[in-house]
Amino acid sequence: MHIRSILNRVEKLKGFVYSSEKYVGSGDRPSLEVTVRPRKGCKGHCGSCGKKGPTYDTGDPRRFQYIPIWGIMVFFIYCMRRIDCKKCGVTTEMIPWADGKHQLTTSFRWYLAHWAKKMSWSDVAFSFFTSWNSVYRSIEMAVEWGRKRVDLKGIKSVGVDEIQWRDGHKYLTLVYQIDQGARRLLWIGQDRTEATFQKFFDWLGKKRSRRIEFICSDMWKPYINVIRLNATKAVHVLDRFHIMTHFSKAIDEIRAGEHRSLKDKGLETLKHSRWCLLKREENLTDKQRNRLNDLLAYNLKSIRAYLLKEDFQQFWDYLSPAVSSGLKSTVIAQR
Ligand SMILES: [Zn+2]
Repeated sequence: MHIRSILNRVEKLKGFVYSSEKYVGSGDRPSLEVTVRPRKGCKGHCGSCGKKGPTYDTGDPRRFQYIPIWGIMVFFIYCMRRIDCKKCGVTTEMIPWADGKHQLTTSFRWYLAHWAKKMSWSDVAFSFFTSWNSVYRSIEMAVEWGRKRVDLKGIKSVGVDEIQWRDGHKYLTLVYQIDQGARRLLWIGQDRTEATFQKFFDWLGKKRSRRIEFICSDMWKPYINVIRLNATKAVHVLDRFHIMTHFSKAIDEIRAGEHRSLKDKGLETLKHSRWCLLKREENLTDKQRNRLNDLLAYNLKSIRAYLLKEDFQQFWDYLSPAVSSGLKSTVIAQR
């Protein structure tokens, strides 16, 4: 079976034919270039109104990346026509395999967006020979497509998260629906500012925002502010990891300060105690556990802080608000 026959099965192009293919073997990045040309007698479609029209002229060959096969990159090579449209004047033609501005074919972009649900975005970029940015744009396209058709009824729980990109210098804000049986990415915005996150609520609309019952986020202040303003009826859930990170930071600071002042008095009581106090009790080594037992005998600020943290761990196991009401108010920002 010819490559062209396979392509005609998976990506049949109305009004165009696959005319030839060329294997371009260069080192460990071989590629397959498939030339596409208009089918004889088929006029092109105006890029603006979509109506058929005569060819005005034909441009230089352009490359469109298609889904790779057998670890080989695949490109469609095509010379775009300009159409002399009665209504719109001269426009670059509309092609069925890509949107004119993109170097990636639409099928490839959907393919990337599909894999990005299963692997990290950088793994997708690496595995399918493209850039992180292309993966991001593909996901954006898929989200945009979904957003236009999305059913926004019944969203009760959402989670907001940030991810770093561009070598960690830039952020994206991601909002997920996290209702049972309905987990999906709802929205992406650039940066992690109040203005960014506000755009999500503007998009969702006031009524639907007020119907949100639970919002989960980290402790990033701008998110907390925007949630308070928009999701007025929601219980704001802060995740365990981020809360406990703050506890650990506080204990670490208290311990370091106390260790310094004890050292000034010639005491080494808190030497090598850092991890005994920071680790969860069940993760301690035997040696650390013995050390911790010794430390508990002292009346130190660090030890009191440690005990408070351990006490708080119970919070995560509470099942009823009646039992946990005292603690709950400190963690749940609003109701
Ligand atoms: Zn037109």
